[in-house]
Amino acid sequence: MLTDTYGRVATDLRVSLTDRCNLRCTYCMPEEGLRWLARPDLLTDDEVVRLVGIAVTALGVTEVRFTGGEPLLRPGLPGIVERCAALAPRPRLSLTTNGIGLERTAAALRAAGLDRVNVSLDTLRPDVFQDLTRRARHADVLRGLAAARAAGLDPVKVNAVLMPGHNDDEAPDLLAWALAEGYELRFIEQMPLDAQHGWTREGMITAEDILRSLRTRFRLTPEDAAERGAAPAERWLVDGGPGRVGVIASVTRPFCRACDRTRITADGQVRTCLFAREESDLRGALRSGAPDEEIARLWRVAMLGKKAGSGLDTPSFRQPDRPMSAIGG
Ligand code: SAM
Ligand code: SF4
Repeated sequence: MLTDTYGRVATDLRVSLTDRCNLRCTYCMPEEGLRWLARPDLLTDDEVVRLVGIAVTALGVTEVRFTGGEPLLRPGLPGIVERCAALAPRPRLSLTTNGIGLERTAAALRAAGLDRVNVSLDTLRPDVFQDLTRRARHADVLRGLAAARAAGLDPVKVNAVLMPGHNDDEAPDLLAWALAEGYELRFIEQMPLDAQHGWTREGMITAEDILRSLRTRFRLTPEDAAERGAAPAERWLVDGGPGRVGVIASVTRPFCRACDRTRITADGQVRTCLFAREESDLRGALRSGAPDEEIARLWRVAMLGKKAGSGLDTPSFRQPDRPMSAIGG
């Protein structure tokens, strides 16, 4: 098992499949993009499947989420999903995507064994979408969401980040829309993980702000804490249920004590936390012919370095060198 020195056990693996993206969300990437990883540095499809296999069969991982960058840009994604779905024990498989291209791929991904999807959508207004992502692709995302629902991916979750002066007035509208469409909405507090270092604590919309705004239109009842488990989202029943809304308050209400995550970057580095400053190389071991047992051992050792918390609430906090898109959000 992937146990750390605080007794937490990582059963949830996030795998970044690429650092590239077809959007330029202002809270994530600069307009000009980033210096992308060189292709030979990326894990191959075979290497990704091998690492997931080791995680699932030797290290107790039960949930695998593919992310990026934009994971739908990875041509081999359906094949990777299919091969991971064939592992025993079969992990639950999910995807975090901006939804562009999902219209074309949702059915094939479902058939390959994908169970669930999270689609990021911050606004219902095409002009605001263009401001926030620097691309005019709002309609593609809506079509991608509808295709995911039609393909039977369940649940379809929507991730929204609120940015002051852009979409911070939209929380109730987003929730009314998500309830009507049958999507499960979760707001994510903006985190200091942007390549441009533009985040400020004073400038961010907090969970409290979001809840206050939602309560102007909806009655929210906290879900039983026991049901939350290690999930990062705190959830509320909306108007008595069954509709729900979640808030991931990584900054103002961190959930590090219950964290069950381990991460692999697109270039094969283990990260124990989004905010970690250290990485442990598995790609070198993979490519030098190390057996599975040795890779499992390196992964276990890496997890022993997992810190108690993100450090976000300490004055000495320093943003990690790699941005969210390179770590895998
Ligand atoms: N490109 C895919 C997407 O947008 O869903 C997957 C990668 S993206 C880094 C994963 C999630 O991180 C998205 O929901 C995005 O909104 C969120 N995200 C990116 N930068 C963020 C930041 N600085 N603070 C909070 N969430 C952020
Ligand atoms: Fe791309 Fe996702 Fe970052 Fe937006 S949040 S720029 S979609 S990686």
